[in-house]
Amino acid sequence: MERTLSIIKPDGVSRGLAGEVIGRMERAGIRICAMKMVHLTLEQAKMFYAVHKERLFFDSVTQFMTSGPIIAMVLEAEDVIKKNRDLMGATNPKDALPGTIRKDFASDVEKNIVHGSDGPETAAQEIKFFFNDLEIQR
Ligand code: UDP
Ligand code: MG
Repeated sequence: MERTLSIIKPDGVSRGLAGEVIGRMERAGIRICAMKMVHLTLEQAKMFYAVHKERLFFDSVTQFMTSGPIIAMVLEAEDVIKKNRDLMGATNPKDALPGTIRKDFASDVEKNIVHGSDGPETAAQEIKFFFNDLEIQR
């Protein structure tokens, strides 16, 4: 069994898309083993997206991620990192396949509804960023 970190971003929460996103995950056979709503500080958002700190979009995306509450989740399934990325679709909704969350709902390349870890190391890191062991259901 593999685990990944998923986030419903501020646009997904404020537009009332949490249920839709979670429903797609559950229907794909993914188990949610931790979930919390948090409102990140700018410092926390910069820490979370530190790998992108040299990118032009860094200031904007970290502002966006602090613009409202988000829902962080630990997802569990076989091959769940890829499964979740497939449900999400490409970063830019223009490039995302039909039927993906981003194609169906994202406003643009920044306000794209969801985050998902991109590999086993980042998944472990990102899960730790939001949850301690006691908060994750076995
Ligand atoms: N992002 C952006 N402009 C870009 C690329 C990314 O605003 O040109 C934002 C977008 O919200 C994206 C996040 O930064 O989801 C992290 O970028 P990454 O390349 O890791 O995309 P993801 O893994 O989320 O598909
Ligand atoms: Mg990424």
